[in-house]
Amino acid sequence: MTPTPIPFIDLRPGDDAADVRAAIERVLARGWFVLGPEVEAFEAAFAAASGARHAVGVASGTDAVALLLRAAGIGRGDEVIVPAMTAAYTALAVVSIGARPIFVDVDPERLTLDPDACAAAVASRTKAIVPVHLYGQPADLAGVGRVADRHGLALVEDCCQAHLATCQGVPVGTRGTGGAFSFYPTKNLGALGDGGAVLTNDAAVAHRVRILRNGGQTDRYHHVEAGINSRLDEIQAAVLRERLSRLPRLTARRRELAAFYRRHLTDAVIPVRECDPGHVYHLFPVRSARRDALQAHLRTAGIETLIHYPVALPGQQAFAAFAPADCPVAARAARELLSLPLHPRLADADAARVADAVGAFWKGRVLA
Ligand SMILES: *Cc1c(COP(=O)(O)O)cnc(C)c1O
Repeated sequence: MTPTPIPFIDLRPGDDAADVRAAIERVLARGWFVLGPEVEAFEAAFAAASGARHAVGVASGTDAVALLLRAAGIGRGDEVIVPAMTAAYTALAVVSIGARPIFVDVDPERLTLDPDACAAAVASRTKAIVPVHLYGQPADLAGVGRVADRHGLALVEDCCQAHLATCQGVPVGTRGTGGAFSFYPTKNLGALGDGGAVLTNDAAVAHRVRILRNGGQTDRYHHVEAGINSRLDEIQAAVLRERLSRLPRLTARRRELAAFYRRHLTDAVIPVRECDPGHVYHLFPVRSARRDALQAHLRTAGIETLIHYPVALPGQQAFAAFAPADCPVAARAARELLSLPLHPRLADADAARVADAVGAFWKGRVLA
């Protein structure tokens, strides 16, 4: 008998379905589809919920990183430090503004930017550091922030996996220039397509990003600089408003499932350590020297897993032109990481099945 599949994630609307449909209808009835009242209302609500003064809606998380860097004055020829273990989009945002990504290794336990390695990588052209709050866990902002302050570098936080996360009690996205968020459907706060936002406490940064996202216009058809087209749709903003109100509850459920896994996976595999209670568990990666065999075993048990990420950024062909330095901690993690299913709609019984299947692999038992 084939076991009932446990998918990695389920993106069909759940108990929010009626509200999502009503939000779409509201936008259709109004007939205003880009940068309108829904975007404005969402920006205000997202800033308030996140503990920041300003939010600016944009088209994607990648654009949010790029626009924050531009607002910080970073551009052609500048060097920007990014962690070696993250989604490639973090570094693609740097490349998109003509700057050069400098890959720096991560801390072996937290898998976020290592402050000492960061300090060692600072050179005369270094202008910014982009820590990534990977898997929902805040990076060591105290450590990385000290490096940025000492050398006068901009600090742009990649918060694309860290909606509502806090670092030592401080909301992510508020330590430096600002924070970049993605609303790609799989993120903790997901739209029905692409979307993103910038959070900042700096009114001048918010103002600059507002101009840049809309082609560099101040008044209609008056372009003061070469901005980009990175606008947020009204339908996405309306859906995000509905979902934002549920996000604290869904985040609590993610933490509950993570705590369950931590209790029940003892000795079987090594979960990435929780170093800050402000972790929001976008993902639940574990490490195993026999990762590929474990993934195959779980697949046989009907459990879908993914790898975040199978190639560290210095090993990606896309970045070969930047002659990246080796980052051995990230390279090893890329061979060992496996993300178990963890999303708010995962049932207790399914989480238990995942934990049992991992335990069975560990004990070397063959599955019937
Ligand atoms: C998703 C993600 C991005 C890119 O966001 P998009 O909305 O897909 O452009 C950037 N960085 C990290 C860490 C991400 O997880």
